[in-house]
Amino acid sequence: WFSEIELGPPVEVFALIKAYNEDNFEQKVNLSVGAYRTAEGKPWLLPVVKEASIKLVNDATLNKEYLPILGLESFSNAATNLLLGVDSPAIIEKRAFGVHSLSGTGSLRVGAEFLARVLGKKIFYYSKPTWENHILLFKNAGFEEGREYRYWDNNTRSLDFDGMIQDLRNAPTGSVIILHAVAHNPTGIDPTVEQWDQIANVVKERRLFPFFDCAYQGFASGDVAKDAYSVRRFASLGFEFFCAQSFAKNFGLYNERVGNLTVVVNNPSVIPAIKSHLTIIVRGMYSNPPAHGARIVEAVLRDPVMYEKWQDHIKTMSSRIIEMRKELRRSLEHLGTPGEWNHLTEHIGMFSYTGLTESQVERMIRNHHVYMLRSGRISMAGLNPSNVYYVAKSIHETILA
Ligand code: PMP
Repeated sequence: WFSEIELGPPVEVFALIKAYNEDNFEQKVNLSVGAYRTAEGKPWLLPVVKEASIKLVNDATLNKEYLPILGLESFSNAATNLLLGVDSPAIIEKRAFGVHSLSGTGSLRVGAEFLARVLGKKIFYYSKPTWENHILLFKNAGFEEGREYRYWDNNTRSLDFDGMIQDLRNAPTGSVIILHAVAHNPTGIDPTVEQWDQIANVVKERRLFPFFDCAYQGFASGDVAKDAYSVRRFASLGFEFFCAQSFAKNFGLYNERVGNLTVVVNNPSVIPAIKSHLTIIVRGMYSNPPAHGARIVEAVLRDPVMYEKWQDHIKTMSSRIIEMRKELRRSLEHLGTPGEWNHLTEHIGMFSYTGLTESQVERMIRNHHVYMLRSGRISMAGLNPSNVYYVAKSIHETILA
């Protein structure tokens, strides 16, 4: 059966992690993966996550029975509230609900499959560049065609806003448009408040369907309301939309696969029908989601004392990343590395585009053992006080070589 199969393409980021792990060079640095690291370069189990987890393990009322198909409702309610804010008209008017799914990826996939199968959507738009999994995921969900909208301007190392708006204006009515809610991956650049309003205007004019991808709420700035600005704005403007939430980064629950697909509609009477179709989609895909991670998130969001601790944790993570942005820029400017580096501190979230070319990236990996994506994207979370200067020097030497 299998002898004719050729090798499929590797998934770049996982291939880089493997290569990094197998590298014996002492000063090697991994800037590829989008996962938080402490100042010592270690993964961080958030103390409040550990605390909630221990409470759950010791809770005799809990068991490992199946959850309902659409997951743990108390979790999806808490997650929806976190995203939209409890005073959101969509919440008050009961026009929003959540589906507990498998992290951001699973939530995107369930939402995309609903749009393709139930609403018959065929075309989706993604930013150029985007988190590369969007394309695979929407295609696998049944979309026929993915199209790019312009986003990154390599000359100015910032947003090509006019290009973006032009491309959205040319989108066929009814197309689905994927929008990064905050901390755009991979570029680290987000639209401004005014620009979000202009995007909203085009989405309305062209009757596009907005599908937000919110993987970094609270992780980007340390402020959950600020990081949910775009989504809340669209809700307040009366849009119907989907939003896939991930709790991988902001809770450090990467492998627990905790996510929520938030659905906002205009009329609550349509909700039972939507839920019935989402139920069929999930049933045929993974039947029902795992409970442990969602119970952790729900417990933390519900308990004011644990919530406060979590707020501290997201501030710790976001401020360490912001500090590393400054430090990398300072080091490059100190070295006199050719180019402008202000974008490093202007960008937000875990990632930045360095502007390094593919062949420069190759040299970064081969000569300096600094692992990063071909596109020139680096994860700021991989930087720490012990390696940031080494990374700056490696960039410097690579550019000058
Ligand atoms: N969307 C974006 C833009 C992301 O960066 C990520 C995480 N890399 C995700 C979605 C989803 O990740 P996960 O499935 O681990 O929640």
